[in-house]
Amino acid sequence: MTIKELIYQANSEADSERTLRREEKIRKVYEACPDLKKADKEIGDLRGKRLVAVIDRNDKLIKICDEQLDKLRQQKELILKSNKIDPGYDEEEYICSKCRDTGFVKGKDGTDKVCSCRKDLIGEAIRDSGLADYASFDMKNYRNDYLGEETARAGILSSMVSVMMNTGAAKDKDLWLYSGKVQSGKSYLAICVLKAAVKLGKSVYYIKCEDVGYSSETVTDALRSADFIVIDDFAGEVTQDNRCASALNSIIETRSAAGLKTVLVSSMPKDDLISTCDMRIAGKIRNCGDIR
Ligand SMILES: [Zn+2]
Repeated sequence: MTIKELIYQANSEADSERTLRREEKIRKVYEACPDLKKADKEIGDLRGKRLVAVIDRNDKLIKICDEQLDKLRQQKELILKSNKIDPGYDEEEYICSKCRDTGFVKGKDGTDKVCSCRKDLIGEAIRDSGLADYASFDMKNYRNDYLGEETARAGILSSMVSVMMNTGAAKDKDLWLYSGKVQSGKSYLAICVLKAAVKLGKSVYYIKCEDVGYSSETVTDALRSADFIVIDDFAGEVTQDNRCASALNSIIETRSAAGLKTVLVSSMPKDDLISTCDMRIAGKIRNCGDIR
């Protein structure tokens, strides 16, 4: 499940939990103060009576009900005061006041972030996004000076983040290529950005190119519809496999039609990819954006 689906599910659980807590709160107050329970019951009955009067257009009865309701409300107020009961005793309270049970809070820069009360769901969503094997890959351990290419990596990181967030120049293209040397930490960087996206409530997916076309329907659906995906170890030779090429082609086209961002990560330079990829894919690489 995606982080949004998990949060949606948790929110509906929070809804029921809030209702239960409210009922329990009222039950305790009533137990301590039966007069209040009686007053609320009478008010409720009168409201029902008034509603019938409204439907019947019985103005005389409406007036009588209103007068009695006024009296009862005054009585209730006295009961609350003399028993020192909080007038909000029958109100629902948010379980998490930070996010008001929505699961999202606004970050300093105004973007939505998953609230700390839903932190556990982030890990679950990450595991469900093709990233179960990369638990140790984390932005906290990420370093731009890896292999001494600090400036270049800082640029790539910020370019990748703007593709993920769809900001700035990244808005112009849906398909992006991150081409870099073998063993230069490309996967690490990409996975860190994917994980950061989940924390912002985005659905993501990570897959190796050779597995495209050979995964379950669930995975293929995720590849088509996730907000942001990374196809790693992308290479011309791999796309010569017809099953892989057809799947890739259809995934890229579906995503582009929906304006969703796809990043291909490859150790091959763009020109080499264009000359060695399946023709359908090569045409797409020619027009894709470059992460650098
Ligand atoms: Zn919260």
